[in-house]
Amino acid sequence: MNPGEVERYSRQILFPPIGEIGQERIIGATVAIAGCGALGSFQAEALARSGVGRLRLIDRDYVDASNLQRQWLYSEADAENETPKAVAAANRLAQINRNVLVEILVTDLTPSNAEELLSDCDLILDGTDNFETRYLLNDISAKHRIPWIYGAAVAGHGLVLPVLPGRGPCLACVYPAPPAGSHDTCETGGVLSAITASVAARQTALALRILIGDEFEPALESIDVWNGKSKRVAVQRDELCRVCGLRKFDYLEGLKQKPVSLCGRNAVQLHENARPLDLVALAQRLRSVGAVRVNDFALRLHLPKYELTVFMDGRAIVKGTTDVGVARSVYAQYIGA
Ligand SMILES: [Zn+2]
Repeated sequence: MNPGEVERYSRQILFPPIGEIGQERIIGATVAIAGCGALGSFQAEALARSGVGRLRLIDRDYVDASNLQRQWLYSEADAENETPKAVAAANRLAQINRNVLVEILVTDLTPSNAEELLSDCDLILDGTDNFETRYLLNDISAKHRIPWIYGAAVAGHGLVLPVLPGRGPCLACVYPAPPAGSHDTCETGGVLSAITASVAARQTALALRILIGDEFEPALESIDVWNGKSKRVAVQRDELCRVCGLRKFDYLEGLKQKPVSLCGRNAVQLHENARPLDLVALAQRLRSVGAVRVNDFALRLHLPKYELTVFMDGRAIVKGTTDVGVARSVYAQYIGA
């Protein structure tokens, strides 16, 4: 570390478990943040301030006015300009800590790109909102022995689970299948910024412990920020777990992403068209249909009942419905199959 770094990170270096050696490890680390929503944007800011040398931000979405209540780093201008979250986050992080190398990927994590995007990282942080992507992260973690930290929040409560390959259970040991039955989502139950910040803060504390090589006993941590109740649930590794025991990576080997309804957005994401689109040409074609806006990353078409956002890779978000069939027909009608 140079004298500027010793001064800048002095309060963290003074914290005995970290010290100068820990800080050097933090500066030398590469951390991927999968999803830059409420959890990921907080993690990104906290880790940039902590001095993590390289942050890789992966997010498929753009900033929306309804994000501003709980998502860090983003401004009203980002929502008005429909800036992709990873881009808006990187712009803000550059103002916070210019020594951090921030890599941005405006894309969806899929079985076909996940290994390329994640396998060289020291740690992966979960900022996603769905179990399908979390199982994909879990497969990558087990296959390449990269630790990752699960985090989830809805309403006023949340969960955190650090996954340490070879030293503790994986997500599939604890949840062999996504939690069944009906439960609240951000769409039905809302979500407080206090819980997303609490979950993300706990994830970043665990991240620093992992990066400095501190040993600890992983547990499933439950936080209720409204009622002030937190608990730790002991978790055990399942020797016959399909992922960390039998080493079957079904999600990573899955060939097709399913359409997903997006948490809290009254919107569906589609992967109908896995080829690059010429957004400018598409914008010309759609001008007679409705108001069109296009930037370097995406095109947005305003229709009376729906709003269609198409990204360069052909992925699309149809806002105004949670019905995959309706979303597909809107896409087919205006973009083509
Ligand atoms: Zn397992």
